[in-house]
Amino acid sequence: MGLTDPFGRRINYLRLSVTDRCNFRCRYCMPAAGVPKLTHNDILRFEDLYRIAREAVSLGIEKVRITGGEPLVRKGTVEFLARLSQIDGLKELTLTTNGSLLCDTAAQLRCAGVTRLNVSLDSLRPQTFATITRGGDLSTVLDGLRAAEEVGLVPIKINTVVMRNVNDDEVFDFAELSFRKPYSVRFIELMPTGPQTDWRDRFVNGHEILNLLARRYTLTALPGPPSVAAKTFSLKGALGTVGVIAAVSDHFCGECNRIRVTATGIAKPCLFAAGNTDLKPYLLAGDAGLRSALQALVSEKPLRHPPLDRIVAINSFAMARIGG
Ligand code: SAM
Repeated sequence: MGLTDPFGRRINYLRLSVTDRCNFRCRYCMPAAGVPKLTHNDILRFEDLYRIAREAVSLGIEKVRITGGEPLVRKGTVEFLARLSQIDGLKELTLTTNGSLLCDTAAQLRCAGVTRLNVSLDSLRPQTFATITRGGDLSTVLDGLRAAEEVGLVPIKINTVVMRNVNDDEVFDFAELSFRKPYSVRFIELMPTGPQTDWRDRFVNGHEILNLLARRYTLTALPGPPSVAAKTFSLKGALGTVGVIAAVSDHFCGECNRIRVTATGIAKPCLFAAGNTDLKPYLLAGDAGLRSALQALVSEKPLRHPPLDRIVAINSFAMARIGG
């Protein structure tokens, strides 16, 4: 069984959000006061999130990434991951986290069957980190990364959103990190979402980042599955790799293999396009209805997301609601 959209793309990747809450308030992602709080009734129970994942896997999803908000702030996420890892047919179970709670959870995550981690980290300078996250403590994230490495949750991907005059002077520092650590550092273009009013001033094009890196290092392109959003390179002598995710300037819709489900049960065929499906009514009915809803969602997947200018105009949503 497999899921294929009307444009022949094989859909085998589900990004599943378990919460919209986060212990950081990254300036480009959330308003200072956070997103308006949803009640426990709005957020799906783990049992329902599990059913969505299980039925999606039965249809052909092979990789599930748990995201948020910050997934590790929700009580029970580790146990939920352990249950997910037992789903027959699931090949990869990954987690996207800001790393702040990793120190205490890395070992449990490993036992729960998480195969890989993505850690979001936008600055290696304590003050800049605190400014971007509105109060985050860089040392807790660095400790968390160490803990993850120690328990063997590797290779770790570091996701760094590059912003003009905020952290664009740290590109080389992050590249140097890949010499010391076996991390896959990925520089991400800032997307025009969330509470930002200064996106155009802050946006740094992925080509600019690559050109900058090429001035100092010899970059060797690494082959990867076409569905991987990052263009990845090895740097001579480095333990890890660097990459660029040019989600804005060089959309990779042609290779898109994913669907998303929010913590409230809203399924999205595309991060930016309309056409969402509320899975809650289907959860009340049987699993067959849930499967049909997921199949219908895939059949509505657009060829590509709207042009950038329209995205800027229409998107006031916070990424924390969707999970990136
Ligand atoms: N709390 C987790 C974390 O920090 O990875 C998961 C949720 S967070 C919303 C997922 C990813 O979305 C993070 O890497 C974050 O940097 C990214 N993100 C949020 N808003 C973004 C934006 N406007 N442009 C680019 N990336 C964004």
